[in-house]
Amino acid sequence: SDSAKSDKKEKLVMATNAEFPPFEYYDGDEVVGIDAEFAAAIADKLGMDLKIEDMAFDSIIPAVQSGKADIGAAGMTVTEDRATQVDFSDSYYTGVQVIIVTDDSDITEPDDLKGKKIGVQQGTTGDIYSTDDFGDDNVERFNKGMEAVQALQQGKIDAVIIDNQPAKTFVEENEGLKILETSYVEEDYALAIKKGNDDLVKKVNDAIKELKEDGTFDKIVAKYITD
Ligand code: GLN
Repeated sequence: SDSAKSDKKEKLVMATNAEFPPFEYYDGDEVVGIDAEFAAAIADKLGMDLKIEDMAFDSIIPAVQSGKADIGAAGMTVTEDRATQVDFSDSYYTGVQVIIVTDDSDITEPDDLKGKKIGVQQGTTGDIYSTDDFGDDNVERFNKGMEAVQALQQGKIDAVIIDNQPAKTFVEENEGLKILETSYVEEDYALAIKKGNDDLVKKVNDAIKELKEDGTFDKIVAKYITD
């Protein structure tokens, strides 16, 4: 590679929503987490430097579509609908939608959510699936997952549906809450890339494969997930 010749490497711009620990969150004014480090390792394989752009979760796909960002990395679930808007890399992680309730809640399984107020982060699969299953009137949308969890703690809503890893962090940080044993939906996380950019999809998939095979990915995960 000729990258060593110039001190300024090309940038790989990653769109994310840094409200999703342990995948992306702020440590001081730096965005850290599994996606941040994984994307940096992918950029390195491509001879590029990673640049992270933090935005609302809803803005990530438009940013990738417009070319403002090269990749979307945000614990983003592959869905049929999103796959009509962007291409996805190979999946790199399995996420699970879980249900958070208060310790004294009578909700013990997904069926109990009928007629209850469910908090979600706007535009996430938790939002999409619970709206489908329980109706728009029963879903309250928040800009941040953490805000939904705080509303639950304050008794304003009955449950939160959110990805399992951030759920663990949020429950640890807010007393009186628990994650139900019965999870809601299992899904695949992948990186979003502009439709038709087959060259980047291929390069990213090759990098993912190498970083999985050489143990780099597992090392990154182990740094952020310790159970
Ligand atoms: N996995 C969920 C989704 O893709 C949530 C992602 C997120 O909030 N960053 O909708």
